[in-house]
Amino acid sequence: MSGYDYLIVGAGIYGAVFAHEAKQAGKKVLVIEKRDHIAGNIYSEDIEGIQVHKYGPHIFHTSDKAVWDYMGRFTEFNRYTNCPIARYKDEQYNLPFNMNTFHQMWGVRTPEEAKAKIEEQKKEAGITEPKNLEEQAISLVGRDIYEKLIKGYTQKQWGRPCRELPAFIIRRLPVRFVYDNNYFNDTYQGIPIGGYTKIVERLLEGIEVRTGCDYFADRAYYDSLADKKVFTGMVDEYYDHRYGTLEYRSLRFETEVLDMENYQGNTLVNYTEYEIPYTRIIEHKHFEFGAQNGNVNPKTVITREYPATWKKGDEPYYPINDEKNNALYEKYSALAKEEGNVLFGGRLGIYRYLDMDKVVALALKDAKENL
Ligand code: UDP
Repeated sequence: MSGYDYLIVGAGIYGAVFAHEAKQAGKKVLVIEKRDHIAGNIYSEDIEGIQVHKYGPHIFHTSDKAVWDYMGRFTEFNRYTNCPIARYKDEQYNLPFNMNTFHQMWGVRTPEEAKAKIEEQKKEAGITEPKNLEEQAISLVGRDIYEKLIKGYTQKQWGRPCRELPAFIIRRLPVRFVYDNNYFNDTYQGIPIGGYTKIVERLLEGIEVRTGCDYFADRAYYDSLADKKVFTGMVDEYYDHRYGTLEYRSLRFETEVLDMENYQGNTLVNYTEYEIPYTRIIEHKHFEFGAQNGNVNPKTVITREYPATWKKGDEPYYPINDEKNNALYEKYSALAKEEGNVLFGGRLGIYRYLDMDKVVALALKDAKENL
């Protein structure tokens, strides 16, 4: 006889939200997690009094009021607005692509002048219907911005030329004809005060969680524990890669504590030229301005983020949603749909480049439909 209603594999945001809802619905839940900590890739930990985003910078943003309110039950958000800076050789630009960027790039001052410049470069490139990331980028912001701020960064990040990447990746970034450096278009944005890990701790309050437990180390045993299952790991691994291996992109982080108050004056500085091996430097303390209540922390923590080729055994960060991989995923998805008692969720479970808010929305929807 199984002792739990639900076995949840993975203690990331999807697993934690689903687990919380299941408990609320009166279900007995067990969460297992391969790593020695909860919270998946939103995990943050305190170093020198600063919340360090251990698996890359995470900024919570959404236009979904229900999701914002839901998260608000587990944390308070500060009023952080993400405004990354881009460095290309000795030049520096504001992101996302907005009037500040256009002025810095071309000296233009009005939206009309900026639009004319982009139109001219788009025409020169002869693009009518963009078929890949390169064409999409040039038609949105022109060739100069593509060459300096997109081409090298994207090629590093994804390990392949922009012509071989889907256009949707670059449509994540706003293009605006106002002087506004806010990286997101969403209504709500912030960083959880006290860190992301706390949110997941609160979601999982009163729920049995076993960290350091690899589902694949003893599948039959874990399966025997519960009637139903939620799986948030890699869907192709779940099916023993029977149709082939999906591709992912990985990351490597180099974190340093520096004996200085302020290293780069901004949370994110992107290094957009191909020759610099990291894509960005994160200075974590700037996520939490004001966190020290006026006391200046004499130290700072920075992280260099290096994109990396993923191979079996590495941490997967990004699904590569190109045609080839999406087609392969469809085969796994067809198997998943046949399952009566297993739900797949999260970036890895449904092989989609999802932001945190979308993951929360999906977990809530799946909980509603299944509990
Ligand atoms: N991107 C770029 N230059 C930049 C920042 C982003 O070309 O300075 C492109 C790149 O292709 C990247 C995509 O925009 O993969 C999405 O960027 P985002 O910041 O949303 O990525 P994430 O933070 O999820 O890695």
